[in-house]
Amino acid sequence: MLMNGSRESILELKEICFSYKLRRGDKLRIFDHLSLNVYYAEFLGIAGPSGCGKSTLLRIMAGLLKPDYGEVYFRGKILKEPEPRISMVFQNPVLLPWYTVLKNVMLGLINEKNLSDKEKEERARSFLDMMGLLGFEDAYPSELSGGMRQRVAIARALVSHPDLLLMDEPFSNLDQLTAITLRREIETLWLNQSLPISSIVLVSHDIEELVEMCDRVVILTSRPSRIAGTVYVDLKRPRSRRSPEFYEYVDKIYTMLS
Ligand code: ADP
Ligand code: MG
Repeated sequence: MLMNGSRESILELKEICFSYKLRRGDKLRIFDHLSLNVYYAEFLGIAGPSGCGKSTLLRIMAGLLKPDYGEVYFRGKILKEPEPRISMVFQNPVLLPWYTVLKNVMLGLINEKNLSDKEKEERARSFLDMMGLLGFEDAYPSELSGGMRQRVAIARALVSHPDLLLMDEPFSNLDQLTAITLRREIETLWLNQSLPISSIVLVSHDIEELVEMCDRVVILTSRPSRIAGTVYVDLKRPRSRRSPEFYEYVDKIYTMLS
């Protein structure tokens, strides 16, 4: 692995301050000069106590929320608005109930002005195929299981060929078997480099999940949240949760969390 300082960042948060404005002028301080880099070709995990600002952090990374102070750089340029090369997957798949599965995935191509409708449809179909959903193009979200809905949301996030994929507890509302399968699939997708996707940021409260999937895990403190520590996971993939080394990493992260 390259030394920290010599790695190039796909995304940089520099000295970010952020507060939510509450009623009567009160503020809820979430970040106070937080700096964090996401490197090219890395799978970064983020852990932290509930309510510390993990989802807020992902929204800032996606350009959906603006920091009050500090800058966000995406591929060396200041990020001012949502960026089509960055995609997000949420804990609960956000799908339009009155759109078919195919149409929901095509929404991920809404900014692609150079593609014809036919090309968009073909691209959406190929991602549905990748996510094992071929045959469900014309179904509506309400007709699908939770795991299938999350697959649709992932297909929609990937269909635009993002460079950076942000995932906010994407497996936490799935049954265990579905979560195991989907984790492996995401890992394989990223390892195979069949997609242009360079880096993934995964937020999770499931420490085992982070050790299984991530190259590096950043642990945040409670609000206003700072970096409590960083753990580099140096285990061969696919990782077995049964090895003692695996649990050494898990313990290390738990210690930093508490
Ligand atoms: P996490 O994802 O780590 O659980 P969040 O980023 O969702 O934390 O939220 C951080 C804190 O900000 C929490 O205390 C939450 O209640 C609060 N919060 C989140 N969104 C808003 C909002 N839109 N307005 C005010 N407070 C918010
Ligand atoms: Mg959250």
